[in-house]
Amino acid sequence: METKYIFVTGGVVSSLGKGIISSSLARLLLSRGYRVTIQKFDPYINIDPGTLNPYEHGECYVTADGHEADLDLGHYERFTNIQTSRANNVTTGRIYQSVIDKERRGDYLGKTVQIIPHITDEIKRCVKKLGNTGKYDFVITEIGGTVGDIESTPFLEAVRQLRWELGKNALCIHLTYVPYLKAAKELKTKPTQHSVKMLQQAGIQPDILILRTEKELPSSMCRKVAQFCNVSPDAVIQSLDAPTIYEVPLMMHAQGLDKIVLEKTGLNADGEPDLSGWNHFLHKLETATEEIRIGLVGKYVELQDAYKSISESLSHAAAYCDKKLRLIYIHSEKLTEEDVDEKLREMDGVIIAPGFGQRGIEGKFVALKWCREHDIPTFGICLGMQCMVIEYARNVLGMEGANSTEMDHATPYNVIDLMEEQKSISNLGGTMRLGAYECELAPDSLAAKAYGSTKIRERHRHRFEFNDNFRDRFEEGGMRCVGRNPETGLVEVVEVPGKRWFIGTQYHPEYQSTVLHPNPLFVAFIKAAIAYEHERLAIHND
Ligand code: GLN
Repeated sequence: METKYIFVTGGVVSSLGKGIISSSLARLLLSRGYRVTIQKFDPYINIDPGTLNPYEHGECYVTADGHEADLDLGHYERFTNIQTSRANNVTTGRIYQSVIDKERRGDYLGKTVQIIPHITDEIKRCVKKLGNTGKYDFVITEIGGTVGDIESTPFLEAVRQLRWELGKNALCIHLTYVPYLKAAKELKTKPTQHSVKMLQQAGIQPDILILRTEKELPSSMCRKVAQFCNVSPDAVIQSLDAPTIYEVPLMMHAQGLDKIVLEKTGLNADGEPDLSGWNHFLHKLETATEEIRIGLVGKYVELQDAYKSISESLSHAAAYCDKKLRLIYIHSEKLTEEDVDEKLREMDGVIIAPGFGQRGIEGKFVALKWCREHDIPTFGICLGMQCMVIEYARNVLGMEGANSTEMDHATPYNVIDLMEEQKSISNLGGTMRLGAYECELAPDSLAAKAYGSTKIRERHRHRFEFNDNFRDRFEEGGMRCVGRNPETGLVEVVEVPGKRWFIGTQYHPEYQSTVLHPNPLFVAFIKAAIAYEHERLAIHND
């Protein structure tokens, strides 16, 4: 069949959840047997979000092919279980870079290079790139930002042109917000009407409207919106606040979103999507009542989107273990020897978060020392793993002042050091060790037991690594290097065998945990936390 292109735009305000709506629609179409991919177009000038502070746009996600991407791609993968790539996330910066490169090469020789047609043509080329591979029946394109933003204008113009060119093979879903005014006790559709007008001014007539709301909309109101906005009444769908994002596909299906999309793109809309695996997960997620308490020690705790993939991975793992996740964010900058006991005492397991730079690092060492001495299931991820190594060096192996050269160039024990290939690189953007790499695990390690395999592949994002010169001292002192890259020998996993569960990974397992395939290491960590909780209860009840 010819590839169908679905554009998802947003109006009124940002943060309405275009990513979740796109992912939910993809889930429904996949469950009906179609091949689907989702891509995100971000209107900012950065080439990718890799250089952005997490306070700006939340977590930076990493694709298997080593692209630093918007966190929405994490949602896409978690919902669809299908890997994304560099082609799935394009920014204004990338579009301009490629047009300017072509101009310098002389590709436009003689022509004035302009937003229309050159920038819009480049956007259109990127929109169709995935469709042209022949691998997808549906390409869902989420346009970042809000209609009316100056930055997103060229993207909307490209969508307008594409809809004209593609005819029935393209449609536009517009997501807006219907606020509830408490004082007036009224839901207001005016912002939606304005936002659709603005889209129409850009030459785009939405086919489907999805209205985000905190209160159920009466059907008369949906009909009114339909009438004002030239949309058929059955194509006005409401998206009420959901107890979990994983319920949204079901809410959309109940209102026929998948059916309407199929009908409007000329496909057979009979039959039902097979959501059995999804429902199995959701049932577990929603019926679990016993809590499992996990502490996440990091420096971006004010903004929980900064650790999105970790919190979602934990929630998947907890659900499959029939537990309700209670994730407690612990600010690493505020954690001290004096209050660590009080802050960590109630935890069943502790995660030491990834990150960059000095800020908050001492709190991570304090947490790690406490966790190690109290033998609590502990999971260090990337910088968290590096901190595990440093803390062990300082407090167990007697290497006073041990550090990573990221924090201290002059450390007498550079147990974490810059990777050889990083030493000559000065640019910050896109130059880390990025993407999926193989790792070989020691057969008798806890990590191998968790994965049920000694050969794994996980995604990376870092510049520094375990310094192999110190390996013997660590191994003799009780910390084992149990995972290695088979080609380079880089240490990817460490563990302390005498402990209940004390594992650090140089890679980020959270980038590869999906609803249908939770990451085995997170599941093993939650299981260890459950076992520890049981042990504590048993002692307590004695
Ligand atoms: N800052 C560390 C490095 O670059 C860890 C990075 C991370 O946690 N993602 O190696």
